[in-house]
Amino acid sequence: MSDIYLEVNLHNLYYNLSKIKKQLNSSTMIMAVVKGNAYGHGSVEIAKALSEDVDYFGVGLLDEGVELRKNNIQQSIFLMGPSNDYKTIYDNNITMSICSLNELENLIKWTNNNQKKIKFHLKVETGMNRFGINYNQLEEIKLLLEQSTYAILEGIYSHFATTYKNNKNYVLNQKEKFDKYKTFFDNYYNDLIYHIANSENTIDFKHAHYNMVRLGNALFGPCNSQKNIGLKKISKVKSRIIYTKKVNKGENIGYGNSYKSKQNKIIGIIPIGFYDGMGLLKKPIGSRFLSVTKYYLKEIYRYLFRSKTIIYYEGLPLEILGRPNMQYTIVDITNIKIDNMIVEIKISPMFVKENIKRTYVSEVKN
Ligand SMILES: *Cc1c(COP(=O)(O)O)cnc(C)c1O
Repeated sequence: MSDIYLEVNLHNLYYNLSKIKKQLNSSTMIMAVVKGNAYGHGSVEIAKALSEDVDYFGVGLLDEGVELRKNNIQQSIFLMGPSNDYKTIYDNNITMSICSLNELENLIKWTNNNQKKIKFHLKVETGMNRFGINYNQLEEIKLLLEQSTYAILEGIYSHFATTYKNNKNYVLNQKEKFDKYKTFFDNYYNDLIYHIANSENTIDFKHAHYNMVRLGNALFGPCNSQKNIGLKKISKVKSRIIYTKKVNKGENIGYGNSYKSKQNKIIGIIPIGFYDGMGLLKKPIGSRFLSVTKYYLKEIYRYLFRSKTIIYYEGLPLEILGRPNMQYTIVDITNIKIDNMIVEIKISPMFVKENIKRTYVSEVKN
């Protein structure tokens, strides 16, 4: 067993899915969004666990879809972002997104030239203003689709820019726009998949379900919905205390003399630091450096300095002594009888680096 790991409880994953399913009509399809390594939980394992229970897997990058195929995931896979690597898309039987006239033209050209079928969903603009075709382009889209033999329109989708909870009117407005597109396509197609709702809006706004919903964070734990449907967190970061030591009163602990012990203490060392757990960037990336760095620093501050109690032993908070290091954090275990030496570290699985092992359990426990 590794000293530090992210323990994912698949029982809770199934539990969350069943809670969400209670909100849906039995015919509503489910796309499980497993982008970003399934929000840190391990996309292949999560996809394997859900493959009997969902209709589609949603990925953000083509490589993520290819990874699922390499690991024998047979379900339909939907690429939510743009790509023009038609060959890889075709070879891996991935359903793609088309977000503009130009993309549609290119797809039709490639599929006609190669006589290979590729399925796609058309992304329509309803208020997010990221990717998506506009309503006034629909006639042109229709003309293009008439020339298309191998590019197969399977669905129409959009994305909510906000939640029903935060801005109900904006959500209603986006839904109304989406309905206009649906009315248009209903004239020509009768079996398209329409989808717009993410987790929060699936839970709070039934009229946004159409015939498929796209579920991300609600599968993995409580989300920011208005309605509380009792979702459970599915993962915990756990670590063994790898080293213990007595420190005498008056001695310094850690870097920069950031902590001076006021009494005799027993300290424990946990192998997680900025590098493994917090995703601190080592190199600037372009002009986003400042904002990204600020973001991470804020997170680190939030987790480590203001609320120091992010490391727990059987529910009891352990004090973090001094500043956490790149790969180690020191905690005070003086008054705690540590039997199994396993502590829990409360950080988001999204911050838990890929090099930290994910382990999967399916027992009932919380
Ligand atoms: C990430 C994403 C989702 C899932 O969002 P959650 O709020 O995590 O449920 C759905 N659709 C698209 C297009 C996404 O990018």
